[in-house]
Amino acid sequence: MIATGSLEPVDGGQVGGEPVIGWRVWGLTNDRLLSIAQGASWEPGENQARCLAGREHDVPAPSCHCGFWALNNPVPAMHLALSNRPWPVAVGLIRGYGAIALHGREGFRAGLASVICIFSDAPEPLVTELGDARRRVAEEYGVPCIVLDAAISIGFLHEMGVGSQAVEQLKAWIAAGRPVPNADLIRLKRQVDWLRAQGLTNMEIARSLNVRTVEIKVDTGPDDLVRLIAEHRR
Ligand SMILES: [Zn+2]
Repeated sequence: MIATGSLEPVDGGQVGGEPVIGWRVWGLTNDRLLSIAQGASWEPGENQARCLAGREHDVPAPSCHCGFWALNNPVPAMHLALSNRPWPVAVGLIRGYGAIALHGREGFRAGLASVICIFSDAPEPLVTELGDARRRVAEEYGVPCIVLDAAISIGFLHEMGVGSQAVEQLKAWIAAGRPVPNADLIRLKRQVDWLRAQGLTNMEIARSLNVRTVEIKVDTGPDDLVRLIAEHRR
């Protein structure tokens, strides 16, 4: 589903063509899906990204954070969702298309995106009220609302284009009792998200948290950025 090796632009630059599938986390309010960092509401069907830093360029631009973000692997998405507690969240799959910037193995940013499905029991095991809220929002967006185990066992994920490795990761995470990321990492993640929302570049974010490393690049994705800052802070 995601191009690898030499096809990956090292700078997160634009590549054309093929739609990509990714894991996405939203805030859940009044039967709407909202982006966690910006609070922008997603629409049913096609969503067109604009530059939220207010810059005049095509989206997604190589040196900007704009475009619809999604992750290749479900576990970082579940961790992101868990770190947003106590606010209600929904985890689902999106299809990104139009101009797409690939971010290594982590994920992508797309100029156009639509919601494919919502999981009723992600990230936490089914809690009735939240499950109901997710079912309502899925109906609102005209997409299926599905339980993770079922999505795995009936082959729904494969059918949607989710890779076997991602499915195996998800199975292992569920089998391990859905472990949550530790509190320090959650705090750091919140700080980084807030700084990103202020329009700071990755390097500015790292510098403001007293971290200097050449490993942090313009196109380092949010999860890798948090991981690298956590590692180099020690
Ligand atoms: Zn931009």
